Amino acid sequence: MTILRVALDVPLNRYFDYLVADGETVSESEVGRRVRVPFGRRSRIGVIAGISEYSELPLAQLRAAEAILRDLPPLPADWFRLCEFCASYYQTSVGEVMLSTLPAGLRRLDPAKARAPRAVKKPPAAETPPPLTAGQEAVLAAIVDPAGAAGKASGAGFAAYLLHGITGSGKTEVYLRLIERALAAGRQALLLVPEINLTPQLEARVARRFPEAGLVSLHSELGEAARTRNFRAALAGEARIVLGTRLAVFTPLPDLGLIVVDEEHDASFKQQDGLRYSARDVAVFRARERGVPIVLGSATPSLESWANAVEPHAGARYTLLTLAERAVSGAALPPVRCIDTRREKLKDGLSSALLSAIEARLARGEQSLVFINRRGYAPVLCCASCGWVARCTRCTANLVLHQSDRRVRCHHCGFEGHVPRACPSCGNQDILPFGRGTQRIEEVLGEHFPAARILRVDRDSARSRKQWEVLAARIHAGEADILVGTQMLAKGHDFPKLTLVGAIGADAALMAADWRAPERLFAQLMQVAGRAGRAVLPGEVLIQTEQPQHPLYQTLARHDYPAFAAMQLAERAQAGFPPYAYQAMLRAEAPNMDEALAFLAKARAWPEAAAHAAVMLYDPVPMRLARRANFERAQLLVESPSRRALQSFLAPWHDAIRNERPGKRLRWHLEVDPIEF
Ligand code: ADP
Ligand code: ZN
Ligand code: ZN
Repeated sequence: MTILRVALDVPLNRYFDYLVADGETVSESEVGRRVRVPFGRRSRIGVIAGISEYSELPLAQLRAAEAILRDLPPLPADWFRLCEFCASYYQTSVGEVMLSTLPAGLRRLDPAKARAPRAVKKPPAAETPPPLTAGQEAVLAAIVDPAGAAGKASGAGFAAYLLHGITGSGKTEVYLRLIERALAAGRQALLLVPEINLTPQLEARVARRFPEAGLVSLHSELGEAARTRNFRAALAGEARIVLGTRLAVFTPLPDLGLIVVDEEHDASFKQQDGLRYSARDVAVFRARERGVPIVLGSATPSLESWANAVEPHAGARYTLLTLAERAVSGAALPPVRCIDTRREKLKDGLSSALLSAIEARLARGEQSLVFINRRGYAPVLCCASCGWVARCTRCTANLVLHQSDRRVRCHHCGFEGHVPRACPSCGNQDILPFGRGTQRIEEVLGEHFPAARILRVDRDSARSRKQWEVLAARIHAGEADILVGTQMLAKGHDFPKLTLVGAIGADAALMAADWRAPERLFAQLMQVAGRAGRAVLPGEVLIQTEQPQHPLYQTLARHDYPAFAAMQLAERAQAGFPPYAYQAMLRAEAPNMDEALAFLAKARAWPEAAAHAAVMLYDPVPMRLARRANFERAQLLVESPSRRALQSFLAPWHDAIRNERPGKRLRWHLEVDPIEF
């Protein structure tokens, strides 16, 4: 008897047994193919994970598979191991991982006929790479050659490198040379970048260098047909380079020889819903499992990665490589200066030093960038007479004023409404905006510099990747004198005429309750500072602050990431925070808080928890944003100094919670290695 073991997109962490359809003969070579099977009263697409001679269930209970789909080569064995690892590490089911990481087009019962791949245009000759800088030479010499690794036994070629290179130091050129080696050795290369960094420019740059490599990209804004086509090309080995965002880490690559994760600290590598995984961490697992080198690159590595490279206790899991200078000679890092805003009364939030620096740029025909990490016009809309504040009725959050279209919006649930003409509480007509966002700064700058062309870049002005590309092209073409924007502006693009960066409102992150806020702030400021003076024109960075002596700004002014990281790690070690502890978060949402807390309290009282001495369960507490979209939210933090101890606790605990079958109105999930609290 031949039994198919099938992975299905259901929350049960096991495979499902099916009989082979009448008349079909099935061999081991069908493992890894998609299959249509009956499940309950309908059909589903699954993946054949194995073929067996027997089933633990009585044969009479088994149903027959409807059809094996042979439109793709089978998914390879290491792809199964990757998915199985993720299912066990992230406490989810193997079928959910497998099916949710396949392109939607391959999960459909009625697969749209995928068009044949476009005929490859006769490629132009490969662009000649620039001669390497001494720094790049040294880095490349230190990285194990994937060609050398190829011949060795599986697992032998694994090595993890943390490439710490300041902005503009030529990390991308290093990646390209590594890819070149991998291709020459007959291997495939996987290059992962943050959502916003996957620009047509980067894609074109890689394609120009390797015109014959059948480069494909994979990201969430790709249409279904294109995603399926690119996935297939990778699986079939036709695409030798895959460039993609976090979801691309699951692309099956039969000849994988190299993984690169650029901007490895970027939060967009963490998926925050559904399958909550870190693509960076999955990439490291994958490299180890496949025995290939992985390079994590950043100007401001995550403290987790930094600790792995520099701390003796981590056993120097990663080899640290450094690019300390900009690749283009003469392009120095811009001087960073703090403007002490306690000494002067600000004009609409802008200091005279910043205003005159902008004025000087305008006079010279150069560009300035004002960085403020808050979109909208004002974060608070308030009645001057009775103190009423515009709040979202569905969330514990204020409504943000958007002046451009006279709306108030909740940035948490998407609610929006008109700006009231008068105070709903006392009737007073004086409702005033407090605080500043990008729109207000844009308006204020317009008043100060009426002749300047001002361009705002935030999630309101650039809703899609396309819109952002259009804005970026306009900036490139010199169609703007002053840019106002959020961290969106810090990434992905070089603007040669940009010579001034001013940061305002940064202090808020110093006082945030979130202990990861300083790490994020440092990375953002470093990145946005890196935009200034990338080409021949020298740049300058001004930071408005009430705490100019703060060590974060001091280390930033010295461009000294290692000093900042050492300081942060010392604080984390003392507080027992990651990377010195491993965490998981159980979250619950319900129409009322008591229900959510009760659910967590019950989970906390799991009798077998006592047997896991190395694991600490905190008290259930309401989340910082306690209500979102009419759901009350609470969380329970689980922590351990040992990753293994945490893992061996989570699996049975998760099963016990699942068996509780909480009420229909309660939603819950367990997140491993959470980064937001
Ligand atoms: P990073 O990724 O580290 O921010 P990039 O790889 O984008 O830096 O390089 C910054 C700039 O330096 C780019 O304009 C790039 O073309 C240039 N560059 C990189 N390496 C070299 C080199 N060896 N010779 C000349 N220019 C280089
Ligand atoms: Zn009022
Ligand atoms: Zn809301």
